[in-house]
Amino acid sequence: MERDRIFKGIKKVVIKIGTNVLTSANNRLDLSIIEHLVEQVCYLIKEKRVKVIIVTSGAIAAGMQLLGWKKRPQEISRLQAAASVGQSRLMRVYDRLFKEEGINVGQILLTRDIFTMPVRKNNAKETIQTLLKLDVIPIINENDSVAVEEIKVGDNDILSAYVADLVSADMLIIITDVDGLSSIDPKEKSDSKVISIVDNFSIAERIVKNSVPSGYGTGGMKSKVSAAKYVTGKGIICLILNGKKMWCIKKAFKGEKIGTIFIPTGSKRYKKENI
Ligand code: GLU
Repeated sequence: MERDRIFKGIKKVVIKIGTNVLTSANNRLDLSIIEHLVEQVCYLIKEKRVKVIIVTSGAIAAGMQLLGWKKRPQEISRLQAAASVGQSRLMRVYDRLFKEEGINVGQILLTRDIFTMPVRKNNAKETIQTLLKLDVIPIINENDSVAVEEIKVGDNDILSAYVADLVSADMLIIITDVDGLSSIDPKEKSDSKVISIVDNFSIAERIVKNSVPSGYGTGGMKSKVSAAKYVTGKGIICLILNGKKMWCIKKAFKGEKIGTIFIPTGSKRYKKENI
C-alpha cells in the first residue's frame, strides 16, 4: 500500500503539538495527553528509528494556569508574561516524561526572523543537528518574550514549517484537536468528512478562508494549511492528526488512513489514488 511505503521512507520528522491538544477542557495542561504523545514519540525513535524534533506550544496556557488566570488576556505583554512563566513548566513536564524513557531533551527558543538571517539560521540548524546526533530530542517553541508572530496568529504552525525545512525533514506532523481538514467545521457538524489527501491547495485554501481558531489555540486550520503549503513546496510531506485520539501517530505509521496528508506539490513520487 502506498501509505505504508510513504511512512517506511520517513527518517526525520518534525512534530508540532498545538495548545488545544495539550490542554484539557478546563484549560489546564493535560498531563495524560502529553504522556501519551511522549510515548508515541518514543515509539518512533526506538522502534522506527526515526529522528524527531518537537515544536510545542502550550507555554501561555501553562503560564495562565500557574498565574491563576481563567481568561486568555488580550494584551500581548500579558501573553508574553504568561509564556515566560509557563515555558519552564512545559519543559519540566517534557523533561520528566522523556527522562523516564531514558531520553534527554534540549530546549530551543526561536523567532521567525532568524530564518532570514543566514548566520543565526545556520547556528540553529547546527544545534538541532548536533542534538539529534547525540540522540537528544530538540524541543522548540517560539521565543515569546522577543517575538509575537505565533502569539498573534499561528500557534507555532508556521514556525514548525520553517523548522521542517531548516532540518530537511521528510515529514511535518501537525498534532491538533480535530481529525484533519474537513470541508465543514467538525465542531459545527459532527458528521463532517475529513479530506484524507490534499494535492491541490486552491481547494484547501477555499475551505479555510473563513475558518477561525477555537479554544486557547491561535492557529486554526488556516495556518495549518499555510504551513502545509510551505513545506510541500519544499518537497516535505505534511500530515495533520488528532492528538486527542489514542495512538494517532503510531496508527499513521502503521499505514492507517487517518488525518489529512498533504503531498508535495507536483510530486510524481506518490500515486494519489493509492494513498
Ligand atoms: N508560543 C506560544 C505558546 O507556546 C504560542 C501559542 C499561543 O499563542 O497560545 O504558548
